[in-house]
Amino acid sequence: MSEPAIYLDHLATTPLDPRVLAAMRPTLEERFGNASSRGHRFGDEAHAAVERARAQVAALVGAEPAEIVFTSGATEAINLALKGALEMLASRGRHVVTSAVEHRAVLDTLAHLETRGFEVTRLAPDAEGRVGPEALARALRDDTALVALLWANNEIGTLNPMAELGRLCRERGVLLFSDATQAVGKVPVDARAAGVGLLALSAHKLYGPKGVGALVVSRREPRVRLAPQMHGGGHERGLRSGTLNVPGIVGLGEACALAGAALEDDARRIAALRDRLEALLLEGLEGVERNGPRAERLPGCANLSFAGADAEDLLVRLGGRLAVSSGSACSSADLEPSHVLRALGLAPGRVASSLRFGLGRTTTAQEVERAAALVVEAVRAQRAAR
Ligand code: PLP
Repeated sequence: MSEPAIYLDHLATTPLDPRVLAAMRPTLEERFGNASSRGHRFGDEAHAAVERARAQVAALVGAEPAEIVFTSGATEAINLALKGALEMLASRGRHVVTSAVEHRAVLDTLAHLETRGFEVTRLAPDAEGRVGPEALARALRDDTALVALLWANNEIGTLNPMAELGRLCRERGVLLFSDATQAVGKVPVDARAAGVGLLALSAHKLYGPKGVGALVVSRREPRVRLAPQMHGGGHERGLRSGTLNVPGIVGLGEACALAGAALEDDARRIAALRDRLEALLLEGLEGVERNGPRAERLPGCANLSFAGADAEDLLVRLGGRLAVSSGSACSSADLEPSHVLRALGLAPGRVASSLRFGLGRTTTAQEVERAAALVVEAVRAQRAAR
């Protein structure tokens, strides 16, 4: 009998937590109402379920329920944040500061806005993928309208010093947007305390369903004004029209509640497993190097390069037995070498030999031992075949 495949690709997506599915199920069956159909039981139940979820999401990220706008995921939240805020701020300034290691949803949206007359400064991160307040301070100008910086990097797990970045933005009166898609539910995220005026998140990175996420839009200090990008029935206080995805939203809310309750324990356990995996690979093979930081990173993320190996070929060799992702394949559908690893200044050969491991809530110690053995075997076989 073939052995079950080991899933170490939790940064790409996470499995649905069975408790999340259980919370969603009634809204897919008998409680199917439209959350806008107020005045009858079906609509009122759906509305109540959405509002409960709104409070659950807000509680996890240091926001008020009224600051949560549900979207179809982080990509939509990012588009709404950047396009919506810059449309409102254009008269104040048309300059945006971001980093070279943002997710493509941010980079491509800003590249689009450049064609609409905005000017974008893309900061190079330090060697570990971090953007610090000194680098940001040098890039801010009088006409800077917005700063967009990741909370946690999706390829190497680097955590940006959001509180320091937020303090600087507050002092300079500049709106700070953060793509916190990989951070929420894995490390503490408090949008208000960090001075983040806009924050994007996605359910499928924290054991919720795919196709649902949220944008946090601060209503005080700062009060952020957005131009809607989806017009229609005026849902979500006019910021995102379209019938609400009640099952998805309920799933996101439950996922947030569960993540909040388990955050510290999960983080400790998962980081220990991640460290064990790294140790096994660093000790088991020559020529293994860590990409990104050792400390100050997502608990479940390890990105390693294997000298003389080719990541795409390793993925084929690992085949159905181990799910990891190639450090050289971007998170989107294209196969460009990772813009994140290149921005760290890594040589093309090292970029092409990198694998990203994403450990999660259900990862076991046995899986880590087995995964390391599979990778050691695959790298050795590939090196021998050269
Ligand atoms: N931002 C980051 C950092 C991500 O890791 C992802 C997921 O790949 C996204 C944005 C896009 O999220 P979604 O799949 O919800 O559109």
